[in-house]
Amino acid sequence: MPEFCDVALPVPLDMAFTYRIDNGSLPVVGGRVLVPFRQQRLSGIVVGLHDRAPTVKAKNVLSVLDAEPVLDPQLMKLGTWIADYYLAPIGEVFRTMLPLGAEFKRLIGYTITDAGRTALYEAGMSGSSARSRRTPEDQLAEVRVLDHLNARDEMISAESLRAATQATKKTLDGMVRKKWIQREDLSGARDATRMLKIAVLNGIEDGKKLNGNQRTLLDTLAAAGGTIPIKTLLSLEVPRSTLATLVRRNLVEIREERAAFAISSVAPRKSFEFQLNDAQRKALQNVQKRVNTRKFAGVLLHGVTGSGKTAVYLAAMRSVLGAGRSAILLVPEIGLTPAVAADLHQVFGKEVAILHSALSNAERAEQWHRIRCGEARVVVGTRSAVFAPVTDLALVIVDEEHDASYKQEETPRYHGRDVAVMRAKMADAVVVLGSATPSLESYYNATKAKYELVELRDRVEDRPLPEVEIIDMRQEFQETGHEQVISRRLGQEIKERLERHEQAMVLLNRRGYSPVVLCRTCGKSLECRNCAIALTHHKRARKMECHYCGFIAPVPEHCVHCGSQYVYFLGTGSEKLEELLHGMFPQARIGRLDRDTVRGRNDFERVLGALHHGELDLLVGTQMIAKGHDIHGITLVGVVGADMSLGMPDFRAAERTFQLLTQVAGRAGRGASPGKVVLQTFFPDHYAVQYAAQHDFSGFYDKELGFRSWMHYPPYSALANMLVRSVKLEEALRWSGLLGKWLTETRHEGIRVLGPAAAPILRLKQDYRYHFVLKSASRQKLNTMLRAMLAYAAEEKIPRTQLIVDVDALWLM
Ligand SMILES: [Zn+2]
Ligand SMILES: [Zn+2]
Repeated sequence: MPEFCDVALPVPLDMAFTYRIDNGSLPVVGGRVLVPFRQQRLSGIVVGLHDRAPTVKAKNVLSVLDAEPVLDPQLMKLGTWIADYYLAPIGEVFRTMLPLGAEFKRLIGYTITDAGRTALYEAGMSGSSARSRRTPEDQLAEVRVLDHLNARDEMISAESLRAATQATKKTLDGMVRKKWIQREDLSGARDATRMLKIAVLNGIEDGKKLNGNQRTLLDTLAAAGGTIPIKTLLSLEVPRSTLATLVRRNLVEIREERAAFAISSVAPRKSFEFQLNDAQRKALQNVQKRVNTRKFAGVLLHGVTGSGKTAVYLAAMRSVLGAGRSAILLVPEIGLTPAVAADLHQVFGKEVAILHSALSNAERAEQWHRIRCGEARVVVGTRSAVFAPVTDLALVIVDEEHDASYKQEETPRYHGRDVAVMRAKMADAVVVLGSATPSLESYYNATKAKYELVELRDRVEDRPLPEVEIIDMRQEFQETGHEQVISRRLGQEIKERLERHEQAMVLLNRRGYSPVVLCRTCGKSLECRNCAIALTHHKRARKMECHYCGFIAPVPEHCVHCGSQYVYFLGTGSEKLEELLHGMFPQARIGRLDRDTVRGRNDFERVLGALHHGELDLLVGTQMIAKGHDIHGITLVGVVGADMSLGMPDFRAAERTFQLLTQVAGRAGRGASPGKVVLQTFFPDHYAVQYAAQHDFSGFYDKELGFRSWMHYPPYSALANMLVRSVKLEEALRWSGLLGKWLTETRHEGIRVLGPAAAPILRLKQDYRYHFVLKSASRQKLNTMLRAMLAYAAEEKIPRTQLIVDVDALWLM
């Protein structure tokens, strides 16, 4: 029996920690253990078992949480790859891969007791209890704790409870002693192997009479064959005490059983008919052929908007399921609406697990277990669904593979698409990347024959792509003499659509009412307190909001700098656009989709549903309206200020603009009537605008690849953004200076270094930020250099949490 185990813990350190195995049960590689770490108890993943004693005395494992691995060898390997490739701490990678968040870190939690509720009630009635000698501050903290727990009525982790209420450990301990709150240790309770409590009928009679409830319960138990999960029994309409009485009378016994991980064999559903056209069928056959070889292959499915990529995905997944194997479909964050989920259930029945961001931790864990035990072999979800614990993976599909929501913008900063490719490689599976506007990286890989390019060149039913008209807004200004939000042309086209009872959509990729508030006396604008960013005016909500950190300020009546009353609200956001259109077309029914009107998935669905049923004439919104919806009535798409992004200091600006313009244009003319797009721009000659207007994909990609190659940007080089941050300006400056000096002194060959420079957003969420952009033709060299840089930073005592390493960064802001 090995004496020690190495454990990856969810802490920002690039290492595993060694613990002595106590003479309890034996941990397994890929399973979790609970261990002491500094002042806490943490649960981590065992990465190795051995007999080599570490140089410092190892502490004991507190308990073994899993008898079987929760991460199989393939997922362990994938996690190790992510940690290495993205320079992320391995324990944090594993935590991300397991949706058992509740079980992984929240180990100590609190719930409120009935006595606590009474105390809370009394505190509310009397204000204070005079007989106690506690300070008012203590009492207030206690009330805050009770209030917090009472409002939620579930277990709250010690960590979040203390953060929310500012209560000290001493206060909480005191409350436990008074039995107002209950302290619970989740360590073993939320085992991934899940213990199932079942009631077993003992089959004896004690001769005493049974009441109605007791009779019901025993009958149900007998009808189920003598055993039944307690959860099911308690859902019957009998008091909970009934079961307890039966147990006391020895008529029923309660046992705990392990809910097994065994793969249950689910019979494939009968075949489902897809209506595919020739191009779709050919694409499907191509994918199927490759799946059958059981070797890794990459396919880039480039299909124009409205060409029916989804039907190809679903048919391919159906055939994988029919062969008894598994498939994963990744979709962008906004893609999983309830309607989509309903479609998926239609095709896959109970064999599909859907993972979306609206799931609670418990629901997520439940889905994870369903996948792990083989009940669901088809998994559809956002980014992290790439870690779904399916077995015999045959196919991974990444829909809208260019979408930025696949990149996680916190540690580990992985890209879901790239991890999907690696996972498919490790599983000898096929990966399909689908998009109407592929990323430069994927397109480049296809030209280099790393992926096979499969194209769907036409829309279904031979519908034409929409005609695009470019409006030069500089000329519009000259001719009308003032700044226009809606050009005369676009106004005219909207009017015609309304008269013909057709629908239109207008995109303005900026939410709020006015993006800038400026003082005409001193010239200063109103900035966020935490960020070097102008606050946006939200008229209806009567507030100024920072779109980066969420800071909110009142709407100023006077300049906050000089007191002048000449404050002006400049520019237009989606809220103001909606108001403008109301003014222009008072009879039109207008809906708006942006992050202010869409709070949950249902809001989104509701507005789209209204559009679908013809209850709206006009839809206004941010890029949210550009993504993947199939509304047949829309014959006009207006694009207002979509070229704002072209002015950003970012090498991906042209690519993003081209993608956004193409995607939003793709919403027009998906039904029987042809579509039209009116594209307003201040850069009518920019190639991103021109190629998008002509639907010329290869034209754009060739031009953009030329630019990237010339500038040594991805896909021609590996790129990383290294950000140094601190709430203190001097510290951020000193640290970035130190690293800059080290970079010049060590002179890493084959690496281009830009910086240190102030980040485009110098201050964000109270941090001052300086960054380096590092590029190299060799990914290995870049990786080696970044490691050396982190090691040097550690020597210089720069905290690891103040350095952000973003490999393959999408944003350099
Ligand atoms: Zn002023
Ligand atoms: Zn802010």
